[in-house]
Amino acid sequence: MGKPRIGIFKYSCCAGCQFQLIYFIRHVAEILGAIDLVYGKMETESDAEDGPFDLALIEGAITEAEQADQLKRVRRNSKYLVAFGSCATNGGIPAMKNIQPELQIETRVYQDISRIHSVKTHPIYEYVKVDAQVRGCPAGERDLYELVISLLLDRKPNMVEHCVCVECKMKGNPCLLLTENLPCMGPVTNAGCGALCPSNGRACYSCWGPMSNANSMALAQKFEDMGLPPDEIIRRFSLFGFPTYEFHMVAGEEAARSSGGVFGR
Ligand code: SF4
Ligand code: SF4
Ligand code: SF4
Repeated sequence: MGKPRIGIFKYSCCAGCQFQLIYFIRHVAEILGAIDLVYGKMETESDAEDGPFDLALIEGAITEAEQADQLKRVRRNSKYLVAFGSCATNGGIPAMKNIQPELQIETRVYQDISRIHSVKTHPIYEYVKVDAQVRGCPAGERDLYELVISLLLDRKPNMVEHCVCVECKMKGNPCLLLTENLPCMGPVTNAGCGALCPSNGRACYSCWGPMSNANSMALAQKFEDMGLPPDEIIRRFSLFGFPTYEFHMVAGEEAARSSGGVFGR
């Protein structure tokens, strides 16, 4: 096969993952020669938005209908489509707004909402088939390497699919949850960051989003037993990944009970 043709698309997010990607590409210079960057508003002047692509990298969450329309076109024009960073994989920070009614959020942010067409935040898997996920906020280097290598070898990427506690224990860290009573989200958070926060004495706040099938209710119960008030528990499960099944079962249920939502108080 010739050089893989890559397209990069950005939806609602801070663009930090693309900066991470630019940094990554610059520091792995040989990759530049191995791929053909066909489209990417921050990286090229090309307007070849319709590809076709061997790989479409999607950054950001969907918060407008027209974003969803374009995403579906990208899917049709791409052999592989990969969610890139927490916003795309699980809704990330933009999904914090889902905890309140959309109108309430819009009027809080904008004086004139007549030209605002936003909808609730959705991870991209709610609209298109996703072939792989590079998790992280910003996207993690280990999974980025794995993705690029897999693309060049035309094999399925082997992404990390266990919780942060595994990496934390492999580093020999004392458990902050058990020994210091800190509300660590490691047991329900997908690994890949190398247990960065617990290795520096700080509880994980789940910036990589939930591990698939995480038992969030059990951790929420543990937090409650530790004396965390409901608002604090909701906050931990809604910072990243609020739309996902794993975190919504805690934060969504609790938030629905509180009038106006915790962030509006
Ligand atoms: S995942 Fe984090 S760094 Fe990446 S675009 Fe979203 S907010 Fe920015
Ligand atoms: S400190 Fe956190 S990540 Fe580490 S083992 Fe304990 S709960 Fe898991
Ligand atoms: S330990 Fe948790 S909060 Fe810290 S970088 Fe890793 S996933 Fe993010």
